Amino acid sequence: MVDRAHTPTPPAPTASEEVLSPSESVLLSVRESASRLAMDAEVVGLLSTSWREIRAQLPVRMDDKKLRIFEGYRVQHNGARGPYKGGIRFHPAADLDEVRALAMLMTYKSALMELPFGGAKGGVMCDPSRMSENELNRLTRTYTQHIHMVLGLQRDIPAPDMGTNAQTMAWMMDAYGQMHGHTPGIVTGKPVELGGSFGREQATGRGVAACMGEYARIEGIDPRDIRVAVQGYGNVGSWTCRLAAELGFRIVAISDVKGGIANPDGIDIGALDRWFAIAKSVAGFPGAQPITNEQLLEIPCDYLVPAALGEVVTIDNAERISARVVVEAANHPVTPAADAILARRGVMVLPDILVNAGGVTVSYFEWTQNIQQFRWPLERVNEELEARIVAAFNQLMARAAKDGTRPRQAAFDIALERVGQAIKLRGFV
Ligand code: NAD
Repeated sequence: MVDRAHTPTPPAPTASEEVLSPSESVLLSVRESASRLAMDAEVVGLLSTSWREIRAQLPVRMDDKKLRIFEGYRVQHNGARGPYKGGIRFHPAADLDEVRALAMLMTYKSALMELPFGGAKGGVMCDPSRMSENELNRLTRTYTQHIHMVLGLQRDIPAPDMGTNAQTMAWMMDAYGQMHGHTPGIVTGKPVELGGSFGREQATGRGVAACMGEYARIEGIDPRDIRVAVQGYGNVGSWTCRLAAELGFRIVAISDVKGGIANPDGIDIGALDRWFAIAKSVAGFPGAQPITNEQLLEIPCDYLVPAALGEVVTIDNAERISARVVVEAANHPVTPAADAILARRGVMVLPDILVNAGGVTVSYFEWTQNIQQFRWPLERVNEELEARIVAAFNQLMARAAKDGTRPRQAAFDIALERVGQAIKLRGFV
């Protein structure tokens, strides 16, 4: 039994405050859901903070021979449902609170998808676009050396996120293996040549496109009549564009960190990929008009897909979002106050913990394949991913309809019930 006097219960933030930190924003959804579910205060107390947070100093010798000291984190939020699981973000804004928020989201994402994992996230405050391959290799190894003691095949399994990729995971696997022996399943999202799963790279985008297709089916609208704007053309954004275009959706605007493009008749994604291979940005693509990132968010379209940073739809632009559906491919792209505005305006928000769960789902497939030392064919990976995400989508929509809640609320209700049950069954409280 946990002593209530010592159960940490941070004050509940309110939706009217736009000044909430990322972790307070997630906590707001959790607390609203806990109150709807009349959940045990001790369980809520446990879920209000992280199980463990590591902050590490990461000294790296740069190519110019100068020593630079980075800061890195690994946050393990809750492991009641299984080993911790969550990506590693390399980004200048990846501070401890951001990583904490993302770790919380992972706990609920895994629960919603019924994956046997808890939630974690890692981050290093750095700008990978300004670092050489050798510098990134050294930074990744230093980071791994500082967190290896809390990782493990049955303990905590990292994956890629913003600013990291299959190469980063290969370096992590190697650095971990030097200390603990060869352990391919210690990270997911590895190169296929090193035990990665077929289909992992496109998995998050495939899940996003599947959710868009399923919602279009529910709306009874042909995807060819649906105009889509996508912010971000990295892993998630680019695969969402390719796979949504395959389903027939008309991609009318795309942006990345360097700028945006729009074409109301639809952007030819194949031609854009050929441009991107040389220009390294969507900006300047000759088959479209230039727009800014701010314009992209407000551009006339039906589905808006933020697939880059968090907190891009805020009280400053929520009234001007013209899309009728916001598909949260990025993590927490809509602030709580903006969410309330969108709800008032009747804009449907399909929540991140469902929409971008394709990545962790195929990470789960990769982990099981590594443990079994057996590889699934691509067709099986894609079929099982789509079946799982469509089933979770429909379960969530049915729950929302039954309870009269919005999809984000229904998603947290389902996930929190599952995490709460695991906490109680294990006897944590
Ligand atoms: P990425 O690094 O591959 O791509 C990020 C993209 O965002 C790039 O196109 C970059 O140019 C763009 N971007 C960066 N700053 C921007 C800005 N200020 N304005 C506009 N665009 C900007 O990252 P990713 O893996 O595609 O992740 C994108 C989002 O999806 C993140 O929120 C991440 O947490 C989430 N996510 C990723 C995965 C995954 O499997 N990679 C899984 C779940 C969720």
